[in-house]
Amino acid sequence: MEKIAEKRRIVLVPIALQGHMNPMMQLGQALNLKGFAITVVVGESNLVSSSKDFPDFQFVPIQESIPVSQIQILGPVEFLKKLNRTSEASFKECIAQLLLQQGNDIACIIYDELMYFSEAAATEFKLPIVIFSTASATNQVCVRVLSKLDAKKFLIDIEDPEEQDKVVGNLHPLRYKHLPTWGMGPLEQFLEICRIVVNKRTASAVIINTASCLESSSLSWLNQELGIPVFPLGPLHITAASTNSSLLEEDMSCIEWLNKQKPRSVIYVSFGSKAHIETKEVLEMAWGLSNSNQPFLWVIRPESTPGLESLPEEVSKIVSAKGYIVKWAPQNEVLGHPAVGGFWSHCGWNSTLESIVEGVPLICRPFTGEQKLNAMYIESVWSVGIQIEGKVERGVVERAVKRLLVDEEGACMRERAHVLKDKLKASVRSGGSSYNALDELANYLEKK
Ligand code: UDP
Repeated sequence: MEKIAEKRRIVLVPIALQGHMNPMMQLGQALNLKGFAITVVVGESNLVSSSKDFPDFQFVPIQESIPVSQIQILGPVEFLKKLNRTSEASFKECIAQLLLQQGNDIACIIYDELMYFSEAAATEFKLPIVIFSTASATNQVCVRVLSKLDAKKFLIDIEDPEEQDKVVGNLHPLRYKHLPTWGMGPLEQFLEICRIVVNKRTASAVIINTASCLESSSLSWLNQELGIPVFPLGPLHITAASTNSSLLEEDMSCIEWLNKQKPRSVIYVSFGSKAHIETKEVLEMAWGLSNSNQPFLWVIRPESTPGLESLPEEVSKIVSAKGYIVKWAPQNEVLGHPAVGGFWSHCGWNSTLESIVEGVPLICRPFTGEQKLNAMYIESVWSVGIQIEGKVERGVVERAVKRLLVDEEGACMRERAHVLKDKLKASVRSGGSSYNALDELANYLEKK
């Protein structure tokens, strides 16, 4: 598509959670390169950290009704409901101001699907609105399936292995037991939020950070079900490779440490920005990683291990012999480093995409929600990883690391990961499916 002479403005409404912020900023970067001006509406406390790397974007604060840290205290459902209830008025005010400044030229509001309060302002000011789903297409399918379920019946079915093993729709291998309800609080409340999120209301399109080579059957299902255009234009972190929207400071010293390791010898361990790990599990991980005798780079966010200020001396000693610990890593750089041979991940969607794009096979240890779904895809659909199920014990950890980094099994997974990597890279190149989807989205927005 040709660059547009007069820059039309797109307003982005991200939620300030790392796994959502990254793809939203990457989308902004991709649309900016297509010639759109970008405004990001973000809570006041995240303004500085999110704006520092985007000099071309306009950042507009909205009064924070509730900080994202409250998610741990309130639980995801209550947090989202409160956030949406209390942000509607300040967002309307913000859009009114923007329209005055921009001479009414806002092409569209694109909001993270969790920030559904955005719709009220769009309706009031008659602005087009598009939903951005930062998770997988299969997660979208699941949320839609869940939104139609009767909570009471589903709770009974959960106890019945036959019901749980039934395939969802014609979406083999997706089964009812895979539906992402874990760790989401009481089922009835979670289904209620699913119903709110899937209600596309006046939205005219849906953007998903995925590629058709990863999830073609889920995308076909969504295309039929939604009745509005679906744009699968991921993985956005390749399209907008230079974007850095890290909310935490990255410790670059781990790259120097990686430079000293042998090719494909290191297991990189990180559980994303939200997961919490019990002290007992951290210690079993430390022993298992050390006993595997492979070098390891381990991200331990201080908030992820409440009750554990530092590793006990004995554990610290064995860890420092083979391992390197940081509080937050430059993950894409780490995964792209030749020394990294495997990724032990919680299987957040971004981490999943980032690992596959670098051809790095995974050990999966999902914690909540859609992470288990992603882990199922990694292990059973794409066959590029293995799952650790049940308790994390040192013997289990040691075996998993060896299977991935030393055994033939791991080499085969790496080969398959490389095939997928090539397909993903082809999808964002000229003529590829994600490249075309981004082009179509830009044309679509230009006409709005
Ligand atoms: N990430 C990072 N450094 C780290 C750990 C994670 O930059 O040490 C980034 C990672 O690259 C990914 C995001 O944080 O883009 C985590 O998103 P994901 O969807 O994987 O998990 P979430 O944090 O939402 O659970």
